[in-house]
Amino acid sequence: MDYVTEVRDATPSEGMVRLDADTSMSPGSFEAALRAVGGAVLAVDEVFSKKATNAFVATRPPGHHAETARPMGFCLFDNAAIAARYAQKRHGITSAAIVDFDVHHGNGSQEIFWADRSVMYCSTHQMPLFPGTGAVGETGDFNTIVNAPLRPGDGSDAFRAAFENRVLPRLHEFAPDLIIISAGFDAHMRDPLANLNLAEADFGWVTQKIMEIADHCAGVASFRSWKAAMIWKRLRIQRPLTSPR
Ligand SMILES: [Zn+2]
Repeated sequence: MDYVTEVRDATPSEGMVRLDADTSMSPGSFEAALRAVGGAVLAVDEVFSKKATNAFVATRPPGHHAETARPMGFCLFDNAAIAARYAQKRHGITSAAIVDFDVHHGNGSQEIFWADRSVMYCSTHQMPLFPGTGAVGETGDFNTIVNAPLRPGDGSDAFRAAFENRVLPRLHEFAPDLIIISAGFDAHMRDPLANLNLAEADFGWVTQKIMEIADHCAGVASFRSWKAAMIWKRLRIQRPLTSPR
């Protein structure tokens, strides 16, 4: 709670305050961040109460750069991580997985679950690129971190191969009770802030593949029939403050 209080207390009454080189707050930022978290936990509730099979949360700020107690890369709170932990605490699931295909590595999600065997974090991302983390060798204390970095200029083939060969098998094997997608679309070929060349069809393909695993896992044991995929959208930031996220 200390970190939440810290962020709240940092809220300026007017103008902007800079928390780090990239992450600023305006008078409305704290409430916006709380509402983003609220959207995430509401989506979890909707899925587990069976009002929805899947949920798509269009929120901003996104979250995957924020660490346990550190704002970073436009992010105040890691919405995807909070959603995973909320599902565990509120709905009693054992395991969750976060799949992150944003072009940037989710250093925050990785840091939060580095030493937690109950949450798998998988990421494809351009490397080198901000924030600099996400090497293949970063696997967490319990080998539940799966990084599949891509090179600048990579496109559909490399992206799909990374999922087919590295991410999807691990996800399938882990068989989580909930899958959350950190769905940043900044790996798109027309995104000016990075250098991957994905097309709309790639995002559709990967989402379908992840949902197939969610469906398969749900069929493995009936007591896990509430297993579902929650789709997470990271809206692209309009303008970078200093460097791309
Ligand atoms: Zn990004």
